Amino acid sequence: MTVVYRFAALVALSALLLTGCAPRPVTDDSTEAASEPTSDIEEAVESAEELDGLFTLYRDTTDGSLQMLIREDQLDGEYVYFTFTEDGAPVAGHFRGQFRDNEVFRLKRYYDRIEFEQVNTSFYFDPDNALSRAAEANISPARLASQEIVAQDTTDGGRYLINADELFLSEALHQVKPTPSPGQPPTAFSLGGLNSSKTRYADVRNYPENTDFIVNYVYDNPQPLSGGGDAVTDARSVGITVQHSLIEMPDTDYTPRFDDPRVGYFMQQVDNQTSTSATPYRDLINRWHLEKEDPEAELSEPVEPIVWWIENTTPEEIRPTIREATLAWNEAFEAAGFENAIEVKVQPDSAEWDAGDIRYNVLRWTSSPTPPFGGYGPSFVNPHTGQILGSDIMLEFVYLTNRLRQQDLFDAAALPSWAQQSLAEMQAHAAESASANHAGCALGTTMQQNLLTGLQVLQAQNASEIEVTEYVEQGLYYLILHEVGHTLGLNHNMQAHNLLSPEELQDPEVIAEQGLIGSVMDYPAVHLTDDVDTQETFFIDRPGAYDTWAIEFGYDPDLNDENQMQAHLNRSTEPELAFGNDADDMRSPGKGIDPRVMINTISSDPVEYAEGRFDILSETMTELLDKYDESGDSYEPLRNAYLVLTGEMGSMVNSASRFIGGVYRERAMIDQPGATQPFTPVPRAEQEAALDLLRTHLFAPDAFDIPNEIYNHLQQQRRGFNFFGTTEDPKIHARALAMQRMVLAHILHPTVLTRMTDARLYGNEYPLAEYMDDLTMAIFEADADGDVNTFRQNLQVEYVQALASVLDEEENDSYDYVARSAALRSVQQINDMIDGKTGINAETEAHTAHLQHLIDEVLDA
Ligand SMILES: [Zn+2]
Repeated sequence: MTVVYRFAALVALSALLLTGCAPRPVTDDSTEAASEPTSDIEEAVESAEELDGLFTLYRDTTDGSLQMLIREDQLDGEYVYFTFTEDGAPVAGHFRGQFRDNEVFRLKRYYDRIEFEQVNTSFYFDPDNALSRAAEANISPARLASQEIVAQDTTDGGRYLINADELFLSEALHQVKPTPSPGQPPTAFSLGGLNSSKTRYADVRNYPENTDFIVNYVYDNPQPLSGGGDAVTDARSVGITVQHSLIEMPDTDYTPRFDDPRVGYFMQQVDNQTSTSATPYRDLINRWHLEKEDPEAELSEPVEPIVWWIENTTPEEIRPTIREATLAWNEAFEAAGFENAIEVKVQPDSAEWDAGDIRYNVLRWTSSPTPPFGGYGPSFVNPHTGQILGSDIMLEFVYLTNRLRQQDLFDAAALPSWAQQSLAEMQAHAAESASANHAGCALGTTMQQNLLTGLQVLQAQNASEIEVTEYVEQGLYYLILHEVGHTLGLNHNMQAHNLLSPEELQDPEVIAEQGLIGSVMDYPAVHLTDDVDTQETFFIDRPGAYDTWAIEFGYDPDLNDENQMQAHLNRSTEPELAFGNDADDMRSPGKGIDPRVMINTISSDPVEYAEGRFDILSETMTELLDKYDESGDSYEPLRNAYLVLTGEMGSMVNSASRFIGGVYRERAMIDQPGATQPFTPVPRAEQEAALDLLRTHLFAPDAFDIPNEIYNHLQQQRRGFNFFGTTEDPKIHARALAMQRMVLAHILHPTVLTRMTDARLYGNEYPLAEYMDDLTMAIFEADADGDVNTFRQNLQVEYVQALASVLDEEENDSYDYVARSAALRSVQQINDMIDGKTGINAETEAHTAHLQHLIDEVLDA
């Protein structure tokens, strides 16, 4: 079988290594041995099996222990160190295929020891600058391990034998057990202590360019407080398999490419310590080493293509979709001058390598008990240059199922996981999510919600089975496009869904010509029309305009020319090239500033688009009982459909709410053609339109009107004791309130309210007090003179409590005085509205008295 060397350009070098400096097998050394000092290495490895590769290993044939040989010429050399989880339990912070540390190591000898030192790659010193002599100042080195030399000899310039078990069967080089988070309750699942007698190698692989230790770590916790769920067989003994790879430092003619804020690449962040610039950034983008076979040709095959393997665990019927979606990126590479940049092969069932072998890029397919995602596309690099050395894509079967995650959390299912928290907790969520792993991809999760939303709509509109199959394939195709995009170096673009207006999105010709959205790297809502029968495009079906432009930025050899590069980047103001990623998006309350950078929405006018979506959703909701009437089925699919549809309503109001107090931001450089000023507040009319949408679809007395008999059927199928500790009744009001709270958490967020006031000085025409008047009326006006239904009772009490919290300086010190004054004014307005309210039913009387009590507490305080 063909072996694909991922470190393609290294083949020549590795040949040299093999012939020139490979360690000579000790046993064949008899001729020289007579004249050399007696080697005690020979003695130390007598009963061991020799494994040749980058570092020669000796495996004891009795106990499996490993010794590692280091040659003199390997000392002071640098190696890429890369770890990933081959298998684990998500509850323990490890899942199959999870990429972890990616560092540079240097090996040093200190008298009778070999040291493993991690190299800090975050700083650059111009070697011609005298300051470079102080390059190590105040940069703390990390000597992660120091191993005693157990045997050595002076043949071949010197060879040293160390105990490998102490390095790799421990956490010396890589932290496997996560640091407990400070807020974690003592009863939360946690790993016990590392059991060094149970911990052992699962496999060892040795190749000319990489030495891999696959270690099965075992953590013992004799008295666990949490069982960790079904995927943990026994919490007293938890196994996690981690692969450590030591990789030859690529020594090629690879030229790094520098990052630019207008394009979204994963990167190696480097500070230039000898630069006087205000932005002394020397950030290197992560990209593959693609070279034209014919450098003079406009379009050329690469010297080495990027080769993907479809794992042999992948169901046959979806392999064609996976292959085509992966190859679809070749179109973007053609714009960058490369033909057939990507190749796709299928891992034979008889393959002697497995998907964990880092020499292969594998599109992997798994069905985990608690899927941590639906798709994930990480890569590992040379941290010195950003050159991508390898990559995998993890795809989860759950993506294609009707199974809802968070099954038993009725409040949260199909809403963000934080949606059932209190207002204050939600507002804290932004800070927390800001520190989350930027490389993570949650697309699979949001895509599954999208996919299921569309399925309900298709069914309600009587789509045929073929249409439904095509629809699901489109969803899968899109997921693959997105995850492959990550492995090419691209991070997210949550602004790409702004490409077309709601009107243009009704026109299949416009969509076919321009693409549905600007980039496959977004998390858009599924596109749905009120006639899905004639609709062709639900998800973007090819790399978008932004993607092609970004691939050119990363890969086009012509852009090594600085002028051509600047001209290319100056196109960033073209609408289809708009870019904003996880750092700017507004998914969490109070996070981000530009409402165009958002997830789970689509079109250049998400407020108007949401109006149409609400019509489609309510029609679909009306059809639910008819559509889910299969004899002999339980009602669980109906219940899931209800959760998905209401979750989608939550997404729509959430994205609309971001326009309130929003600011459009532009990342163009000074004097760039077509650029606007960096910050332009959202026009008042657009903010008011967003509030109108919330008034109608989230706050109004009839906002949650659905055929009431649906509620009688929202039943989960019984399984053993699965209602134990909870109850199975549909918690309808809690779900509605969770959606309202989720939006209030943003539109009353201290950051948003302060921004509204600040932005008055640079263009915001919606004064905070006037906005608060409008919000208060949206929540109180409709039933100010009459009876208040139970949804509205919850909402009104929630709102008054939120206002009280704004005013409570002790509880909440982040609101400015302008916001506090506006809140006090709102409380007084509500007081006036409910004062002396008569002729109402008993529950409205009770509710009004409750409000009065809360208001009195605020006003008397
Ligand atoms: Zn992603």
